[in-house]
Amino acid sequence: MTPTRLLLPLSLLLLAPASVLAQRPANELGRVMILEYHKIDYPEGRWTRTPENFRADLQRLWEKGYRLVALNDVLDGKINVPAATTPVVLTFDDSSPGQFRYLEKNGAVEVDPESAVGILEAFAREQPEFGLKATFYVLPAADPPNRLFNQPAYEGRKLQYLVSRGFEIGNHTLWHANLSHYPEETVRKQLAAAQERIQRHVPGYRPRTLALPMGAYPREIGWAVRGTVNGTAYQHDAILMVSGGAAPSPFSKQFDPLRLPRIQALESELAYWLGHFDRHPHERFVSDGDPLTVAVPKRKKDEVKNPLPSGLRVVERE
Ligand SMILES: [Zn+2]
Repeated sequence: MTPTRLLLPLSLLLLAPASVLAQRPANELGRVMILEYHKIDYPEGRWTRTPENFRADLQRLWEKGYRLVALNDVLDGKINVPAATTPVVLTFDDSSPGQFRYLEKNGAVEVDPESAVGILEAFAREQPEFGLKATFYVLPAADPPNRLFNQPAYEGRKLQYLVSRGFEIGNHTLWHANLSHYPEETVRKQLAAAQERIQRHVPGYRPRTLALPMGAYPREIGWAVRGTVNGTAYQHDAILMVSGGAAPSPFSKQFDPLRLPRIQALESELAYWLGHFDRHPHERFVSDGDPLTVAVPKRKKDEVKNPLPSGLRVVERE
């Protein structure tokens, strides 16, 4: 290949992302994807993404202008990503080993670079602007291999590490109980005891969100929202389902934190939704770069929820 033939495609590649970003007008009423991963392992399957494919997902999101945000920050309306980029939330259910593995090497312990945490950290070192955020919905009393990432000696150390790195821990019940099957007392015990087990390792940590095992709500949603059992008080500011597509903007009247939809991170679903937002860019949340303003198209200003989280103000655009 001659140098000139190489030069043209390369320069086009380099120019493309910036020009694409510049054309994207701010729309902070657009939808936000909350992606739901299960196993990071082999082989690829219905509930499994390989480490290579997970890494490729991060690359695709990065190239298409998505940036990681913490779910708790979305709930608080604190979306701090650069102008023309789109927030995306990563969630990991069931605390399986490939999500977070430690390797013992010469007497020291390190995060397995092939586990989800290791892959996320490596990607954030390469592209710091992408961010390093995710929520882990862990199972403190499931049978192996789903009990707190399946390395009993490191259970506490892992939960502490996640919190110290700015990741979030969420409630997923004690052992993946289908909450639609149980009476109130059992539902509440599952939620309070899961939190209490997490707090044994990370004192004072409050899991602010609940991912429903199998997406099953208890008979009364209030049982899952707040309560106290044996002195452990729980309160969930959001409840996540297992499907439902992209979520409404947290600034939209349609945003219902107790029924947050997610997108399962399978190749088919990811391809569908990334393609959807490529074809319908006006549906996508696009930041104006200012975390204190909510930029909305003028014709959509009636769709902004009222009140907004304190400190935020609406800016209309044509
Ligand atoms: Zn689950």
